[in-house]
Amino acid sequence: MVTRSRALCQTASWRDELAAAYRTLPPLLAALDLEPERLPGLAPAGARDLGERRFPLLVTRTLVRAMRRGDPRDPILRQVLPLASEQQPAPGFVADPLAERAAGADSGLLRKYRGRALLLLTSACALHCRYCFRRHFRHDALPPLTARLDAAFDQLAAAPGIDELILSGGDPLLLDDAALDQVLARATALGSLRRLRIHTRLPLALPSRITPALCRILAERPWPIAMVIQTNHPRELGDEARAALERLAASGLTLLNQSVLLRGVNDDAGTLAALGETLFDSGVLPYYLHQLDPVQGAAHFQVADARARALLAEVRERLPGYLVPRLVREHPGARAKTPL
Ligand SMILES: *Cc1c(COP(=O)(O)O)cnc(C)c1O
Ligand code: SF4
Repeated sequence: MVTRSRALCQTASWRDELAAAYRTLPPLLAALDLEPERLPGLAPAGARDLGERRFPLLVTRTLVRAMRRGDPRDPILRQVLPLASEQQPAPGFVADPLAERAAGADSGLLRKYRGRALLLLTSACALHCRYCFRRHFRHDALPPLTARLDAAFDQLAAAPGIDELILSGGDPLLLDDAALDQVLARATALGSLRRLRIHTRLPLALPSRITPALCRILAERPWPIAMVIQTNHPRELGDEARAALERLAASGLTLLNQSVLLRGVNDDAGTLAALGETLFDSGVLPYYLHQLDPVQGAAHFQVADARARALLAEVRERLPGYLVPRLVREHPGARAKTPL
């Protein structure tokens, strides 16, 4: 009884924390001691609070506490700040850069790579990353979760050779415990999986979501689970995030990180090297460093391939090999991510 009521209270607390996230610019800038005038290129007044109708400003308080007050170029702020230039077309930058719509994203199940299937569980996130390649998805057009799960698990049961299920989104850990437990139970019932993977930013964006109850749900599975978090800058890994990652590691999960190479956020070798070391301090191994997907609205983050390669070469000289991520780009239709 005691455990249960404590679990309920923790559930309430991550939901409260999510409800208290910043969704408009004025209170965010006030919290950071920043005048709008110090942020040239902000989305114009009117559009300012929304950024864009379907992809408004959103960032949790945990991440805002990790930003440097008074710094208009803070690398965590850059990731979530809507700029006017997002509205301008840039050559080559399109709504669906990975052609996921054609690959089946409308049903929520993506089967692009051999042996792996990716399930989009929810469209909700705890923060809106301006460079997100799924930022233009009409997630509201997805059928309700139960119907999608029925269809996805029917497809999975009929598909030979899927040994890894990847839960993605949005952020799959924004589902509540009961729904996640059900997804994992259905995945177990398939009988064919060898492992499961979860893509999430919540350990750093909403660490209170990593409750003991959630850790138990994840630990009780018959196959190993890899959790791939996404951090782009070492300051995203504060004390709360590290504690959440420790709880996950103690539950037997393998922890990996993917980053996106972003101009003005992490496009220098010192930051990338510090990220690798900070990740390892938290029990996480660097996995991928992605070249930006050319999604409309994200052109201001682009780093040229030649510079990306040079940065990685420098990181390779500074760090042990196991802390160097693989630099990759995703090409629509390719059989795997392409090393650069
Ligand atoms: C990236 C990706 C995967 C997983 O690729 P890994 O190289 O195994 O990490 C699977 N499905 C889709 C649709 C992806 O974009
Ligand atoms: S899906 Fe991931 S990258 Fe995209 S907005 Fe959500 S948390 Fe950010």
